[in-house]
Amino acid sequence: MQKTVVEIAGVKMDLCRLDTLVVGSGAAGLNAADRLAAHGIRDIAVLTEGLDRGTSRNTGSDKQTYYKLNMSGASPDSARSMAETLFAGGAVHGDIALVQAALSPLCFAHLVDIGVPFPHNEYGEYIGYRTDHDDTTRATSAGPLTSQRMVECLEREVRRRNVPILERMQAVALIPAGPPDARRIAGLLALDLADRRVPRFVLFQCERILWAAGGPAGLYADSVYPPSQSGATGIALEAGAPARNLTEWQYGIASTRFRWNLSGTYQQVLPRYVSTALDGSDEREFLYEYFETDADALGAVFLKGYQWPFDPAKLGVGGSSIVDFAVFRESRERGRRVFLDYRSNPRGVTLPLSAVGIGAEAHAYLARSGAVEGTPFDRLLRMNPDAVDLYASHGIDLARDLLEIAVCAQHCNGGLAGDLWWHSPLRGLYPVGEAAGSFGIHRPGGSALNETQAGSRRAAQHIALQGPARLPDAESFLDEALPVVRRRLSAVSAMMTPELPGDLRLPPGPFRRRLQRRMSDAAGFMRNPEDIRSARDACREELSDPATGQRVGDPGQIPLALGNLDLLIAQYACLSAMLDAAGQDIGSRGSWLALDAQGDRSCAGIRYRLAAPDSGDRIQTCSLTFPAAVPSDRLDPVTGDPADRTDFLPETGFSWNPVRPIPPDDSWFETEWARYRSLWSIDAKEDDGTCSSKT
Ligand SMILES: Cc1cc2nc3c(=O)[nH]c(=O)nc-3n(C[C@H](O)[C@H](O)[C@H](O)COP(=O)(O)OP(=O)(O)OC[C@H]3O[C@@H](n4cnc5c(N)ncnc54)[C@H](O)[C@@H]3O)c2cc1C
Repeated sequence: MQKTVVEIAGVKMDLCRLDTLVVGSGAAGLNAADRLAAHGIRDIAVLTEGLDRGTSRNTGSDKQTYYKLNMSGASPDSARSMAETLFAGGAVHGDIALVQAALSPLCFAHLVDIGVPFPHNEYGEYIGYRTDHDDTTRATSAGPLTSQRMVECLEREVRRRNVPILERMQAVALIPAGPPDARRIAGLLALDLADRRVPRFVLFQCERILWAAGGPAGLYADSVYPPSQSGATGIALEAGAPARNLTEWQYGIASTRFRWNLSGTYQQVLPRYVSTALDGSDEREFLYEYFETDADALGAVFLKGYQWPFDPAKLGVGGSSIVDFAVFRESRERGRRVFLDYRSNPRGVTLPLSAVGIGAEAHAYLARSGAVEGTPFDRLLRMNPDAVDLYASHGIDLARDLLEIAVCAQHCNGGLAGDLWWHSPLRGLYPVGEAAGSFGIHRPGGSALNETQAGSRRAAQHIALQGPARLPDAESFLDEALPVVRRRLSAVSAMMTPELPGDLRLPPGPFRRRLQRRMSDAAGFMRNPEDIRSARDACREELSDPATGQRVGDPGQIPLALGNLDLLIAQYACLSAMLDAAGQDIGSRGSWLALDAQGDRSCAGIRYRLAAPDSGDRIQTCSLTFPAAVPSDRLDPVTGDPADRTDFLPETGFSWNPVRPIPPDDSWFETEWARYRSLWSIDAKEDDGTCSSKT
């Protein structure tokens, strides 16, 4: 990486030139860096807000799942069969599903080789279990912190290969270049956060960026993403990278004081679901009004253990998603606080637990686990003591404390679009991991972690096949960077103008909380078009303001304010995509319920309709086009801002395209071998440092 100091838009800043940049240090980013280095791409770096940040490093669940090709037992499996399961999720491209499946055993073996402790039996079989949206036993786990184990091992590899890691750097804009029909990446603008009181802008000139910045986690108030993950999808959309399936998220029940998924044993031990008034008085068990019998209610709680995400198809009589619905109604409509209580048994339970009292499935499981006595806490301690310790390590004693919960956003199935090499139509950009829109309506549990490895491996391979980058000179790059740098500098200066009488701008902290509340209220798992439209209009209003609705009192707040700008753009795109989908009259699917007064189904008085079975045959793609630069005759002569505020607003574009099927299985070894030698073989052996282009 070459470093010089340049002056641009009147500001001196560092300019770093390098072959390929990886943004993000989660499971996807670290694997991307490891694979690039393995292919001999030397002039690379990882840019990250922090190795200690992001979803992979800071999250987990009862048994965090990794989805891979079946490698044990007698059940037959193949890449194609796994691709069919991924494809069956709906609104998924078949070729992308096939690549994810085909690379799965390689990625898994790599993780095992570098030390991730996935369990195997005495014969070396990596045994699996069944996960949601899966009819085989492809799931495995390295415990509650699988993704953390993955990043620890991957980081060790990246350090072993001496890849520079640029920590405390925040990407705040991508720099696109080229004509509108052939846009490409020219570089990136970042904030150096080393001195938080005075963040400095830094320019990166690089034409290949692996975008591993994770999901747009900061969008929701009710969220089980770790607070340290916010995401950077908005700035990629701003640069012209299209996204797909932005309507498709996963929501489920999670604790809120310490953010954690309440799946698996947390539900299977049958805690009480209680609500209280805001002051803690008037405690009551609220689930029973939604079920015909107490045993039905407890059976549904048990099922939540492995039917964790909300699913409108599970809202029928006795369905497990009624539990999410009841939690939502209790908190959002009735204004009460909602908790899980492990201290005593739910109403109607007699000991020892019996099939009559809790349902046959729950009873069979708990009896086999030797957990039919005691309180929910006793059963949890017996079946999964780590689950108890985890909360204890965050100051929550489940033997004594109520655990506050909400229905929370957990994963974005959609994201930035890429082809079967994870290459964006914005050339040079490779969205990988959760930033990539590889999934659609449903996905098997654990497939997100497979994506972090398969997508990044594939993108690194594509870059290696092209050989080293040839960068244009710095002067022409600075010309390309100038409008982007100007736009950010002028936003910062508008944010920093002193408070005026009647000023409606908010400081960045309260601004973020309002933005997140807006999304949870209008665009969580319960959606209706009027709420989405007014939330989208509020976003428009803020985007059309030179200061984006924010007032920044001191320079130390600039990183948060620019992070909010990223979220605002992502929120505008998501809400616009949801409105566009509502216009298509899709119905309810995936993990969201479209409220519909004319719907043919009902649950506790609300009406809805399920999406047609073929609704996943099409994929929605969304793109934003921001004005390149506002012409000078439209600028206010005094402030220099556009006279018409709509000059700041992007145009949204949507298309609904048929999914690409899984490619036919017509390979023949002799012909594929020849094709491989002329097209795909990377001459570099691992670590020999050379790489020649064949494409
Ligand atoms: C509670 C919970 C449980 C889950 N359980 C499972 C499970 O069991 N199985 C499964 O498959 N998946 C699960 N997931 C999803 C899975 O953990 C994530 O999809 C995956 O870890 C994402 O990895 P990633 O590398 O793409 O992104 P992340 O791990 O989020 O990493 C993103 C990185 O980008 C950096 N970054 C972001 N923005 C910027 C910026 N502007 N500038 C610089 N750096 C930036 C971050 O600091 C971070 O280093 C779960 C998620 C949650 C929240």
